[in-house]
Amino acid sequence: MSNVSITVAKGDGIGPEIMDATLHILKEAGARIDIEEIEIGEKVYLSGNSAGIAPESWDSLRRTKVFLKAPITTPQGGGFKSLNVTVRKTLGLYANIRPCVSYHPFIKTKHPVMDVVIVRENEEDTYAGIEHRQTDMVEQCLKLISRPGCEKIVRYAFEYAVANNRKKVTAFMKDNIMKQTDGLFHKIFDEIAVEYPGIEADHWIVDIGAAKMADTPENFDVIVMENLYGDILSDVAAQIAGSVGLAGSANIGENISMFEAIHGSAPRRAGQNLANPSGLFLGSVLMLNHINQQDVAELAHNAWLRTIEDGVHTYDIFKDSVSKEKVGTKEFAEAVVARLGQKPETLKPVEYRKADPIAEADKKPIYSIREPAKKELVGVDVFLHWWNGNFYGSGNDLGPKLEAAANGGGLKLVMISNRGTKVYPKGFDDTFCVDHWRCRFMSDNDNEVVTHQQVIDLLSRINAAGFDFIKTEHLCKFDGVAGFQLGQGQ
Ligand code: NAD
Repeated sequence: MSNVSITVAKGDGIGPEIMDATLHILKEAGARIDIEEIEIGEKVYLSGNSAGIAPESWDSLRRTKVFLKAPITTPQGGGFKSLNVTVRKTLGLYANIRPCVSYHPFIKTKHPVMDVVIVRENEEDTYAGIEHRQTDMVEQCLKLISRPGCEKIVRYAFEYAVANNRKKVTAFMKDNIMKQTDGLFHKIFDEIAVEYPGIEADHWIVDIGAAKMADTPENFDVIVMENLYGDILSDVAAQIAGSVGLAGSANIGENISMFEAIHGSAPRRAGQNLANPSGLFLGSVLMLNHINQQDVAELAHNAWLRTIEDGVHTYDIFKDSVSKEKVGTKEFAEAVVARLGQKPETLKPVEYRKADPIAEADKKPIYSIREPAKKELVGVDVFLHWWNGNFYGSGNDLGPKLEAAANGGGLKLVMISNRGTKVYPKGFDDTFCVDHWRCRFMSDNDNEVVTHQQVIDLLSRINAAGFDFIKTEHLCKFDGVAGFQLGQGQ
């Protein structure tokens, strides 16, 4: 079998030491890999490259399509962009996979039976970074959730479950509040779940789901989430399993994938042969699985489990009660190499049966291309920056003024809300208001469609009356179904 080329970056701080330790174990375990090394991180940032990665390094990544990356130091301030976010988004690494396993009784944890895999969406949600200051008082962050984005991540979670002999996929979302964005995620989860009758599908509102995961993680198996929930809860899951220092992660794209530890570059520990290489090593095991070297992944991972079980521990996990030998980075790697071919006796040995699901399922469409829906414009929300000095009751002041200035041309004001709560008509004087108003205009003839020209004419009237409009959102029906929500209390 021919070798697989991979791109390796040794990173900053403890990065080079833990990478050398990891590569040593992989080599001794017989990994069939050829390494292309690239430079990323602090040196590249400080040479004036604000992305932290040189143009020629992208060529290596596009060539090998597999990236094993040590942590890097992001310099503080100075407009340096997070390399992780740049790499994930540029290369379309849509799925972040983080197995969170406890190693009781060898590593201290409150959850002796924990083996949860977090599958986090990696490209969209509030992480699009589309933020604006709209008024004196209000900042906005756009949460974007797409159908293909949800299909990709949910399908990945189920494919992962099938390929890794998992029994259940749970989705966390907040669709009782975000009925459209999280509602779409939930709907697609339900749609895709029926295609996998062998896998139990389950869902929770994220708040109670998170509480249950932190309390009884043994009841969870694979958990799939949008970007923000997944970012937060994957750290919680890794920490309650024993330590964030032990977890590896995979960032999977349709063409390129990246594997890493979840911890940072720990600069204060650098150069002292102290750091624990386990997080990066377990990231590299995910990589071996991904490049179809399950034999090596299994051999190396079982030797690592045996090392942990034998009490050969680096300082960060060393406990007098369970540890037997405190070792440095290099000695830990040697201890794993010495155990190649052995399996753990108390901990459950790993078995890698199959390739990474998407490597296997490459030929399957992971998202559907659909006919566009019939779209009808039925109204518009015009957002105003307006302030009369009163935090209470001012909706009933704004409403008649706006009606007098803007109604006409087939459109009428039907509602004003302030941060989502209806304040006109018949607003309560008790509702706290800021200087940001959503003013909903619809046809004055029930159910009539509205034209773009009517919207433009409406904005002209609003402008002529001296109101500061800050944005509009069109109210549309898609195949007859409203693509917008009513204001609270409307
Ligand atoms: P960190 O993860 O580097 O360190 C947190 C704590 O954990 C420290 O006490 C450290 O000594 C310890 N630690 C971390 N990894 C360890 C290991 N392998 N073995 C033993 N102890 C370990 O987080 P931080 O201090 O917040 O960040 C340091 C730098 O890392 C920052 O520049 C940050 O931007 C960067 N960072 C990079 C990545 C990445 O490249 N993926 C991720 C997170 C942070």
